[in-house]
Amino acid sequence: MRRPPIIAVMGHVDHGKTTLLDHIRKTNLAAREAGGITQAIGAYEINHGGKRITFIDTPGHEAFANMRTYGANIADLAILVVAADDGVKPQTKEALETILKSNTPYIVAINKIDKNNADIEKTKNDLLQIGVFLEGYGGNISYHLISAKTGEGVDELLDLILLATELENLEIDNKTVSGVIITSRMDPRRGIISGLILKNGVLKLGQYIGTASASGKIKSLENSLGEKVKELTPSSPSLIVGFENIPNVGEEFIAGKESDVDEFVKLKQSERKDKKSETAAAGSEGMETINIILKADETASLEALKNLTLKMPMGLIVNVIDASVGDVTENDVKLAQNTSAVVVGFKTKVDKAALNLARAHKIIVIDSPIIYELEKTLKEYAKKMVPKEMRRLEVLAVFGDAKGRERVVGGKVLLGPIKNQEAFEIWQEKKLIGKGRIMNLQSQRKDAAQVETGSEAGLLSQSDEPIKVGYNLIFSDPE
Ligand code: GDP
Repeated sequence: MRRPPIIAVMGHVDHGKTTLLDHIRKTNLAAREAGGITQAIGAYEINHGGKRITFIDTPGHEAFANMRTYGANIADLAILVVAADDGVKPQTKEALETILKSNTPYIVAINKIDKNNADIEKTKNDLLQIGVFLEGYGGNISYHLISAKTGEGVDELLDLILLATELENLEIDNKTVSGVIITSRMDPRRGIISGLILKNGVLKLGQYIGTASASGKIKSLENSLGEKVKELTPSSPSLIVGFENIPNVGEEFIAGKESDVDEFVKLKQSERKDKKSETAAAGSEGMETINIILKADETASLEALKNLTLKMPMGLIVNVIDASVGDVTENDVKLAQNTSAVVVGFKTKVDKAALNLARAHKIIVIDSPIIYELEKTLKEYAKKMVPKEMRRLEVLAVFGDAKGRERVVGGKVLLGPIKNQEAFEIWQEKKLIGKGRIMNLQSQRKDAAQVETGSEAGLLSQSDEPIKVGYNLIFSDPE
């Protein structure tokens, strides 16, 4: 038996991905009635000429990008959206790279053809320049001209999607019950809610479910219309309650008997460990993940915030744990604590209890009414997560009174130079512990003005929190 194709929409910001996904959903009766649940699941299903198609509808292309890290294969076909008034832009290239690296077949939608300044020929030429050889232009990449705004050409694009996926192997394997996590968030009332797409087998209420990072038992199962169901068949997006901890977006899951799920979780965890040590040994092409929780005063601001998360440094995956309208509350900080996330607030207030809790647990809350400020702070924070980019020292030994402010620290400079008298931040993996300063710097037991990459350094340090073996000291570049 074949399952319906699963489609991801990719492209540069503002080129019309959301408008296209909204248009397709709104012109489809069943999906239209289920707007709310679509948002929660991060995917929806339509019926086009008697055939089902599933669309991944998440903020940005987070789920799709994560898939590379987790090795799960979400989409059967990608649509590369390029606006005809703007042509190929940096994120068009990034999207294409992601598509090619994951071996996903793709088609092109040239959008915004209703605009006066749409230049279709220039757009096609731009595409040629980045190696996208369209049909009729020396290649075999199918494309269609559309306006996501007026709906022109969208029906034909759907025909093209069905045609392009006709030859794909979409056979269902009924031996396993497996799929991919598309969204994940903590609901204060219901617990952890996850949107997923089932790719094989039959998902049932009461089954155990697990990914590399989380497991649980399915307590509630809803289909893409928001109806409570007892079981689901492949390519169906659905919402489940039952994970005991939050699974990462983009991870593969399996469901079934407890022993099978346990075995799968263990296997995935050991694969991940191997992968981590491999990338560390290879000098790190590895991707880092940063979990974030977004809060804003209204939906439009929240959209702006989501777009911001697409502008983070390369090599970093931004996992949006939750995005909602309202003040930053204690619940957000608790969720951040449970998921090692940063809270980002745009035009919102941080309530007092939340502020106190964040201080007590050293949870990072970035908030500002100015989007550029947020972008700057978040980028700085994100850079610290990409080890290659920040000057840092790995702590190998610590001498001195654990309670006092001064201690002697020995370590290796992973990226230098680090300089005498410099200020640093103390990080334990992805958690900011405190701040400090180098009071005296030594290399090979002699005072030194600076120590270079790869060398060992001894430093007399002053810090507000104890420094421990295994921590990283991170040095920011001056503005
Ligand atoms: P995304 O960032 O790729 O999701 O882009 P959006 O869907 O948010 O679109 C960005 C802007 O372009 C919005 O103001 C849309 O209304 C507008 N837009 C999208 N598609 C079209 C189109 O086909 N024609 C015109 N004129 N505007 C469009």
